[in-house]
Amino acid sequence: MSDRLPLVAGNWKMNKTGPEARSYCERLLQLLGEMDETGAEIAVCPAFTALEIVAVALAGSGVWAAAQTMHEAPSGAYTGEVSALMIAASGARGVVIGHSERRAAGETDVQVSARARAALDQDLFPIVCVGESLERREAGETLPWLTSQVRAALAAVRADEGDRLAIAYEPIWAIGTGHTATPEIAQEACAHVRAIAGERLDPAVVRILYGGSVTPENAAALLSRPDVDGALVGGASLDPESFARIVAAA
Ligand code: PEP
Repeated sequence: MSDRLPLVAGNWKMNKTGPEARSYCERLLQLLGEMDETGAEIAVCPAFTALEIVAVALAGSGVWAAAQTMHEAPSGAYTGEVSALMIAASGARGVVIGHSERRAAGETDVQVSARARAALDQDLFPIVCVGESLERREAGETLPWLTSQVRAALAAVRADEGDRLAIAYEPIWAIGTGHTATPEIAQEACAHVRAIAGERLDPAVVRILYGGSVTPENAAALLSRPDVDGALVGGASLDPESFARIVAAA
């Protein structure tokens, strides 16, 4: 059992309007208030249009808001983009970087690295995603792939910043498919991600999350593994009851 505090983050993707997000937060805080003790740090990641609403609704609760992506530039002619400064000014405390759905839309390793640096420079907590496709897993290339993604993502991170970010191992074949990685697969990959992150950061401090079809039913088995320090939850985070049950399993 490590002394790293588990982190459970809910990635809403392109779901929930501002008013829906506010009601969700009220219900989530009510559910968390009914729990004996939450042994986890909790974050929710709404769309930009609900980010400030969520940050305000959660203020003072300990649960924090995070954006789902960002641009690495501080400002400028980047139509449709949002900077780390803007995210921080909204009251959010973190940002997801390198999600496979963003990488599929063109986000590169170089951008992931630059975005992680820009987020840290604004005191935002990056949750940096890595993970292999089914083809790479079947070809036996998972660990080398993770090695290269983690090294690239952390290229601009400083040695003392291990407690200021998390890395989410999210196998692409498990995201939104219902095909959750087994606890053994999650443990092997998260341990490997930790070892590679340890080339730059203190491996005992950096938190490695698992993401990919986490549900209230499978969360406890995944989170009981020694190198799985939490979860990045998509679909099952959209319902506050289900998300609170995953938090309770952490
Ligand atoms: C995600 O979007 O990061 C994710 C893990 O989604 P899901 O839990 O729905 O697989």
